[in-house]
Amino acid sequence: MKYKKNFKNINSHLGEFDNLGTVASYIPELSSVDPLKFGIHLTTITNKHFSFGDSDEKFSIQSISKVLSLVLAYKLEDEYLWNRVGVEPSGTPFNSLIQLEHDLGIPRNPLINAGALVICDVLVSHLKNPKQEFIEFVRTISNIETIDYCNRIAESEKSAGYRNAALINLMKSYGNIHNDIDVVLDFYFHLCSIEMTCKELSQTFLFLASYGVCPFTNEVVISRSKSKRVNAIMQLCGFYDEAGEFSFKVGLPGKSGVGGGIVAIHPNKYSIAVWSPRLNIKGNSYKGIKFLELFTSETQVSIF
Ligand code: GLN
Repeated sequence: MKYKKNFKNINSHLGEFDNLGTVASYIPELSSVDPLKFGIHLTTITNKHFSFGDSDEKFSIQSISKVLSLVLAYKLEDEYLWNRVGVEPSGTPFNSLIQLEHDLGIPRNPLINAGALVICDVLVSHLKNPKQEFIEFVRTISNIETIDYCNRIAESEKSAGYRNAALINLMKSYGNIHNDIDVVLDFYFHLCSIEMTCKELSQTFLFLASYGVCPFTNEVVISRSKSKRVNAIMQLCGFYDEAGEFSFKVGLPGKSGVGGGIVAIHPNKYSIAVWSPRLNIKGNSYKGIKFLELFTSETQVSIF
């Protein structure tokens, strides 16, 4: 497969998307990013690489890291995890509070902010030094030692994090947060601050295209069954209240972040990362989704 040709061809049809949507503005580190950045990187399970544009530039992966924290928590807790967080699409924005009261403090899924906060709480309970152990986990599965948090972004997240503070307080009132709120929030804000290039992001998620096995080390990251389930959750919840639309148009499990990144998986084939900072009203990359829609259409492969 000569994916590079697809990338070039599709890019020539994406010009009109350059000015659609707006870059996230709630923290200066995101609002100052050049809106015209555009990168793509695809890694096959046989370790072949195809890239385009700004694929080697670091960006803030934001909520994409929620999948990685879920993987580690699922590994540690097994099926007990689902007593504290659901696996249903929320149909609400990523930072919504409304549903959470109705559901008595049990978030609908681990990829909305409330669910990711519960996952952080689980990890704080299990790990001695959560931030250090988590980033080491990410470095191991990606085979990239230099992946790290951005402390400046973590600080900004904290100073703007009123809704996340509201979500965690509400859940604490229902008994679904076991640790100190500030410790859990600090861990969550660090997760949001991880930076990767498209290449690093596609490499990091490759184990989910390889049934849970890290293709670089051949180590089992999570079991085949758990890997299937994490992909299922991405398929149904990865784009919040746009998950149906993404599934309909792209046909792959994926996850977005407000930094403009998207990663999508084709099991047994590849992991692809796209970055374009302008977001649509749901907080997902405008051009990124359009690119993936055209990519699965042109290559005529999706999981369906
Ligand atoms: N830092 C953002 C938040 O917690 C992450 C949201 C996202 O990427 N969708 O609100």
